[in-house]
Amino acid sequence: MGKAADLEKLKADITARGDLPLMESNLVFGEGNIDCAVMFVGEAPGAKENESERPFVGPCGDLLDCMIDKIGLKRGDVYITNIVKRRPPGNRPPRAAEIRAYSEYLMRQIEIIDPKVIVTLGRFALSYFEPKAKLKCDHGRILPRADRWKVFPVYHPGAALRSTQKKDLFRDDLMKLPKVVSGEPAAETASSLPSSDASRITS
Ligand code: URA
Repeated sequence: MGKAADLEKLKADITARGDLPLMESNLVFGEGNIDCAVMFVGEAPGAKENESERPFVGPCGDLLDCMIDKIGLKRGDVYITNIVKRRPPGNRPPRAAEIRAYSEYLMRQIEIIDPKVIVTLGRFALSYFEPKAKLKCDHGRILPRADRWKVFPVYHPGAALRSTQKKDLFRDDLMKLPKVVSGEPAAETASSLPSSDASRITS
């Protein structure tokens, strides 16, 4: 099967599972270029995303789109999804059990799309890949990983909308992304993790 068919099958598998958390909300599977170099991973859909069944279409999405544009890409060049594929009520952060329940689907989505770089948006997405990492220390640095994907953590656009300092960091980190993709030495490797962890990280 090709990537599109594999993704359709994955979506059907999620839809068929009647026992996943947050079933009262719509499925927001993810969208974008399935042959992308860059895949963005957020935490969970919000109200606008739930209504439209598309990730990052509210205020956070506007900021993300604006930054994608600033680095010379278009939204249609990248793939955007979340760990948790349905909206937690009241836009509360996703719970550990919700993250656990949806996490195998994110990993299958990553394996199918097979991007060069995964940009994690915020602490939940960072923890999905490396529970010991700290956004404060590791944002804007490539995580040392044993698998084939470069993971590049940045602040969540929601945090950037609430804090000028985080907005500057969000912008500065994303400005490094073209070099991270091309492999030029623009971003250091995260140093807050013990080096023994590098070979352990496989999600
Ligand atoms: N925040 C997220 O983490 N994901 C979305 O899709 C929207 C807002």
